[in-house]
Amino acid sequence: MPDPDAPALSVVVPAYNEQEVLPEFHRRLAAALAGIGMTWEVVYVNDGSRDTTLEVMLGIQAADPRAAIVNLSRNFGKEIALTAGLDHARGAEAIVVIDADLQDPPELIPTLIATWREGFDVVYARRNTREGETWMKKATAHAFYRVMQRLGGKVQLPPDTGDFRLMSRRAIDALLTLREQHRFMKGLFAWIGFPSKAVRYDRAPRAAGETKWNYWKLWNFSLEGITSFTVAPLKAATYVGLITAIGAVLYLAQLVIRTIFFGNPVAGYPSLLAVVLFLGGVQMMMLGIIGEYLGRIFNETKRRPLYFAERVLPSRMG
Ligand code: UDP
Ligand code: MG
Repeated sequence: MPDPDAPALSVVVPAYNEQEVLPEFHRRLAAALAGIGMTWEVVYVNDGSRDTTLEVMLGIQAADPRAAIVNLSRNFGKEIALTAGLDHARGAEAIVVIDADLQDPPELIPTLIATWREGFDVVYARRNTREGETWMKKATAHAFYRVMQRLGGKVQLPPDTGDFRLMSRRAIDALLTLREQHRFMKGLFAWIGFPSKAVRYDRAPRAAGETKWNYWKLWNFSLEGITSFTVAPLKAATYVGLITAIGAVLYLAQLVIRTIFFGNPVAGYPSLLAVVLFLGGVQMMMLGIIGEYLGRIFNETKRRPLYFAERVLPSRMG
């Protein structure tokens, strides 16, 4: 059913404990979208914040009918919060996904729209610099994108690209048919295809509040990315096994020849132990890799809904 009052553009904003930045975010967004010549709404998703984020959102909505609120029943994580926002976005022509912390400048949205009007379904914002982030985070992020590119095969992740992007309605409809539990959004965005183009920008440091990321989370995020994107680690396991087996056969041959020609002095306790521990380690690691995939299969087979919304307050347009 087409909605006659639907705005042309939806801006989807996942927010977890963002009470400090939201008013400023909304002000900057409204200013940035003033001249785009499209009707628009902004969908704020409160991802189970522990602070007053929901109250701040309600305040924004009371003052601005273009604001919609999706209040999730608990914290589900950014990827699912984003999906909830996309599910409830009414934008008939295009949808923008942006972080609440002002690291993605709302002022770039008119540029994204201009590029979309040139005929691209997906216009993603590509970072030039990562100001205010440590070199460790930059280096690990860089390494992650390079690994993903090697593993990606036909589906290529654009490097240095976050979730900040504009997508056409048909691209979003395609994306929303993917309902898997393990949602590596960058991978899903890439998987659906459609003509895409990058727009470059400078990523600012967080305006206020704290990043929810740490290295343990980043590591898990990378694992999530790799395992939901490619089965290359399973293939790698096969080859590591093959190479170890060949190595073992060669070593065995050497032992046999040595015993035949030079007798058997029964040395080799250290080498025995080294080999046993090495093989044990390799096997455990392979089991771990299989386990990563198995756990994900387990989660997917439960076919649970992705989230529950405690309440949905649509924008009051038209
Ligand atoms: N976010 C969310 N749920 C979470 C964690 C984060 O909705 O569990 C939101 C957060 O409010 C922000 C965006 O996702 O709008 C990006 O989060 P953050 O700035 O912590 O990540 P970073 O920019 O460091 O990648
Ligand atoms: Mg951020």
